[in-house]
Amino acid sequence: MPCEVIDRPRVGCINPIFTCQPCGAQYASIGIKDCLGIVHGGQGCVMFVRLLFSQHFKESFELASSSVHEEGAVFGACRRVEEGIDVLLMRYPHVKVIPIISTCSTEVIGDDIDGVVNKLNEGLLKEKYPDREVHLIAIHTPSFVGSMITGYDIAVRDFISHFAKKTEPNGKLNLFTGWVNPGDVTALKHLLAEMQIDATVLFETETFDSPLMPYGNSVSHGSTTIEDMVGTADALGSIALHRYEGAKAAKYLENEFGVPAVIGPTPIGIRNTDSLLQTLKTMTGKPIPESLVRERGIAIDALTDLTHMFFAEKKVAIYGAPDLVIGLAQFCIDLEMKPMVLLLGDDNPYYKDDPRIKELQENVDWDMQIVMNADLWELENRIKNEGLELDLMLGHSKGRFISIDYNIPMVRVGFPTYDRAGMYRHPVVGYAGAVWLAEQMANTLFADMEYKKKREWSLNVW
Ligand code: SF4
Repeated sequence: MPCEVIDRPRVGCINPIFTCQPCGAQYASIGIKDCLGIVHGGQGCVMFVRLLFSQHFKESFELASSSVHEEGAVFGACRRVEEGIDVLLMRYPHVKVIPIISTCSTEVIGDDIDGVVNKLNEGLLKEKYPDREVHLIAIHTPSFVGSMITGYDIAVRDFISHFAKKTEPNGKLNLFTGWVNPGDVTALKHLLAEMQIDATVLFETETFDSPLMPYGNSVSHGSTTIEDMVGTADALGSIALHRYEGAKAAKYLENEFGVPAVIGPTPIGIRNTDSLLQTLKTMTGKPIPESLVRERGIAIDALTDLTHMFFAEKKVAIYGAPDLVIGLAQFCIDLEMKPMVLLLGDDNPYYKDDPRIKELQENVDWDMQIVMNADLWELENRIKNEGLELDLMLGHSKGRFISIDYNIPMVRVGFPTYDRAGMYRHPVVGYAGAVWLAEQMANTLFADMEYKKKREWSLNVW
């Protein structure tokens, strides 16, 4: 079969593509206004994750840790969470939402964080903070299951299931963006605004691109409010742009409150953006305006200038978050490129049933591999020892040494990206994202030709 789906054929992981579930839960929590998550585990479970967020966005984010030490690891450490929450409430008078995010160690110990929530709701909150709105939410994210992607998905569902409440229809759409950059949120809001659609953009990351203001500000935060989450049950529908990052919440709202859910496709490239606009049109009855038809035309024009002349037959490797990787692969194929290997960094059993993967399997007529539970060695080994030749890599900064060591040009995309400036500001979704991605890829290939002293004739006459 030209396109096969395989598992990493080793037990050990060499240069992982993802980090663990608590990271995803922390990412969801920083998208909520007046929220400060406490991670129940060793301090490193927060410290390294905050570092990744700061590296990627060049901003600071606040997250707390119960800072479990030896005694807690042996005898249980619920007491540390209880004390930690009291400290947070004293120190941060504006905080209303505190997710308690479990980790591998505290799940293995068996610390009962749901019990902690009940105990504090009945005790501390009633006695010490009777007039304060505080929501404690237990989020179970052991690191020995899934990855940061599933952690995000679980956390988004748990926040929504805590808050969503049915009252009166609000005529709005719920948009679960998935784990995207501020530039993506701006691009998505632009599409919604052009179609005059009132939507609640959930787990809002646009404000992660924070200004430095005269009065001083040191931390960044998302802008999804409690009211936004409560209102999700009254929406006319939900769209989850990522099958693995936010779809659980959309399905929850459908099952619990009858809010119809559409899952994907991730709007990377022209055809997937077209699908999103069609979904928006169907769900709201709003027409696709001429302005977006024109934007689409400009994007197609830009891609046409590049596709056959420069992209055709170019061999690509793509790694990272599954929805991003699959969306990029579809886009590359539309640009006449050949994705050779797709690396998905965890072992989600649903990947094999993903209709987009089935579509790739049915249509690809060259040897292509989709590696589940992959690490970066799966890519390096193919290049170093198995003769894989590539023209381009697409992925986050953790793969940069493969690009450097094997002289393969690379476009940075995904999380975390820290070795290129301002990448979080640019969208990969929508028509704007399609143009930006294609031009990034083209310019990267052009620069590589010069670096390798290839006097490419076509650039002289282009
Ligand atoms: S693997 Fe475990 S200890 Fe390490 S960061 Fe993840 S949850 Fe924390």
